[in-house]
Amino acid sequence: MISMTQGGVKRHNQVRVLRAVRDASGISRAQLAEVLNLTKVGVSRPVAELVAAGLLVEGQAPQSGPGRRPIGLQLALGKFASIGFDIRVDRAIEVVRDVDGTVVSQQVIDLPPGVTAPALLAILAQRILAAALLPRYTIIGIGVALPAELDDSLRTVKFSLPLGWGKVPFCDELESLIENRYQVRLADVSGAAALANSRMGLPNLAHLQIGYGAGLSYIRDGSLGSLGLVGEFGHMPMLAGGPQCLCGRFGCLDAVAGFQILVDGAARLGLAHTTGPGGMNDLSRRLSEEAGQGNQQVCTLIESVAQWLARVVAAVITIRPAQAMTVGGYPLALGDAFWQPFVAALEQLHPQAAQLMVKSPLGDEASTVGVGLLGAEILFSDPIGWAALHSGLPQLI
Ligand SMILES: [Zn+2]
Repeated sequence: MISMTQGGVKRHNQVRVLRAVRDASGISRAQLAEVLNLTKVGVSRPVAELVAAGLLVEGQAPQSGPGRRPIGLQLALGKFASIGFDIRVDRAIEVVRDVDGTVVSQQVIDLPPGVTAPALLAILAQRILAAALLPRYTIIGIGVALPAELDDSLRTVKFSLPLGWGKVPFCDELESLIENRYQVRLADVSGAAALANSRMGLPNLAHLQIGYGAGLSYIRDGSLGSLGLVGEFGHMPMLAGGPQCLCGRFGCLDAVAGFQILVDGAARLGLAHTTGPGGMNDLSRRLSEEAGQGNQQVCTLIESVAQWLARVVAAVITIRPAQAMTVGGYPLALGDAFWQPFVAALEQLHPQAAQLMVKSPLGDEASTVGVGLLGAEILFSDPIGWAALHSGLPQLI
């Protein structure tokens, strides 16, 4: 029996090698040693362990110069996929994603109004057991993004105001319903979007997600880790005597910069918009057009939320620096009408934080991409553990 410490280092190197091969298929051992700052022996051991577990295969690397072609490494996982569910209150977006990023299937499942936790869990379990029958694919694991506040273990929902749920041991219950065939990973919407954005070459990233509520997530070394600031983030007090929040208090971040402020503002200004799915994007685009045409009241409304969010980002980066920061949610649909006052305010408050802002090309779909990655993380965070757990399953390669 090896010690935990040795086991931890061993696993850490396996994870680093597997991720490096995922990110640069065909990479040679010598290149791996350079990229990971390990000795040749330090690379050989995790490579051998991953090959023995059936997770890596060796082949010829592409010719890069004269001389013998080095042996390149590839994931032995072309037929492995994860299942993700991006839950959006009135619908669930189900995505089956290959480990190389190819979307195998994606579909929208309408949810009944006011869906309860047991009802949603039953729907997801049924979908997972059906997807498990997909020909040619072995399922790695399940990722779920919920508009909810999670406990520190990221396995239990503390509560969800949008869904009207109290405490739900979500991962335990879903794993039980699917007879423990797969592990389940849970994230809030900001965590799933953060994971997707981090794959743009930003392994150390902070991501602020803002819709009706706000969430903040950190990615460290490419993984969604302990988050620190997510739980009560949207209920950070910002303005004494401000608008009332869904939580009952006044002047929370959600209440001063959540999407409801824009909905109320649009109603005051007599701007019509659609409601229901897509309503947030529709109204944001409408406001963006009005601002572009010089509607001063709309510009003032957007500047107000931009300034609140600039203050939050400045505070967040001061407390816990990151390599880069992305923002998701309604600001993406508002476009420059939001970004210009937002960046201007941030430059005044915290110039370095303004430099860290990266515009993600992933809009509303970031959390859907993220749930696919979340399921795959079950493998990429503990490859040998995953292989051992699933060695009894038929490998449909
Ligand atoms: Zn609140």
